[in-house]
Amino acid sequence: MTDLSMAKAAQATLDVAAIRRDFPILDQKVNGKSLVYLDNGASAQKPQAVLEAMDRYYREMHSNVHRGAHTLGDRATTAFEGARETVREFLNAASTREIVWTRGTTEAINMVANGLTGRLGAGDEILISHMEHHANIVPWQMLAERTGATLKVIAVTPQGELDLESFGQQLSERTRILALTHVSNVLGTVNPVAELVAKAKAAGALTLLDGAQAVPHYRPDVQALGCDFYVFSSHKIFGPTGIGVLYGREQLLEDLPPYQFGGEMIERVTFEKTTWNTLPYKFEAGTPPIAEAVGLGAAIDYLNGLDRQAIEAAEQALLEKANTLVDSVPGMSVIGTAAHKVPVMSFKVDGLHPSDIGTLLDQQGIAIRTGHHCAMPLMDFYGVPGTARASFAFYNTLEEVEQLFSALQKVQRLFV
Ligand code: PMP
Repeated sequence: MTDLSMAKAAQATLDVAAIRRDFPILDQKVNGKSLVYLDNGASAQKPQAVLEAMDRYYREMHSNVHRGAHTLGDRATTAFEGARETVREFLNAASTREIVWTRGTTEAINMVANGLTGRLGAGDEILISHMEHHANIVPWQMLAERTGATLKVIAVTPQGELDLESFGQQLSERTRILALTHVSNVLGTVNPVAELVAKAKAAGALTLLDGAQAVPHYRPDVQALGCDFYVFSSHKIFGPTGIGVLYGREQLLEDLPPYQFGGEMIERVTFEKTTWNTLPYKFEAGTPPIAEAVGLGAAIDYLNGLDRQAIEAAEQALLEKANTLVDSVPGMSVIGTAAHKVPVMSFKVDGLHPSDIGTLLDQQGIAIRTGHHCAMPLMDFYGVPGTARASFAFYNTLEEVEQLFSALQKVQRLFV
């Protein structure tokens, strides 16, 4: 079979046309053209099932949770805690006590970095990589500043893979935590996280994996990965904005101080002293994002109803198709050519500024992301101010990939 017919076969097993009908937003015109949404890495679209679950929640069961005073409250609590169980199962966590709702990946990382303040001091090291999102850089930089610890950085190869030699050199018995992205939002690289987590643990370090870009494509098994913390955002996995997840090993969460204080997170309050609620509520001060939790649960249920292997094959077919078309645009080059990638393509075109590429594609109905992608150190490494990035989801089609490239050819002809 040719590359293209293999790609078509992979897509055929998935029934992309039927899937697209589940995502109402995709069926619209933007700037007079059919929308081609290739900005899934920034935020993915929501299936009807998520919209309906949240609508139904507000129409039939909204009330505050964990109050136990009346029927609506019980319904809301059941739906809310049911979603937590869905996430537990998705991550294969041992217990729902290990699943903390957060506002997203960013807040989850801040919770952990903040909680570790008392445990680090001068001489201790925090290990991250050169391909991290700012959300997995700045909280650690601030932790280092607060405690006198040193921030160490694993190098990246020109292809956009982690430099494993550099990892070996940077990891030491002084490493207190390894905080690493599972998948790079810029490069699409899937990092060998299980192997690196095992090495970090052997060196006595804690481990946190940023799963923001991994969960739309893979189902992570936190027990198999062996990490201490795993974090992700709902909006990238086809759920609503405003909610995310901190998975933490139970004993570690027990030992970690809370991040915010107020209602829900307490057991007993007197003016002299307050004691904390049990896990996970110790980390959930205030009224939580209830409808959003329900929506996230529905997004995971929706994904569970799809054939994950077929999704992976179809997504890889999109990436392969894109790779085969790169040469059709004079001056185009891809940043991030790792052997193991999710369907994300960062690129530049000689003579064109990334933001101009974005604007001109938008005029043709094609949505991509341009800029530094919240990864300025990585942009510095590649010596670019930013890149253009097309990030695909399983609802994208091979025709849309073709449209992207013919639009790029048009842009290139007009401007270079
Ligand atoms: N980490 C990675 C790898 C990301 O791609 C993102 C979102 N672009 C984040 C962290 C931050 O996620 P959020 O803005 O949802 O907190």
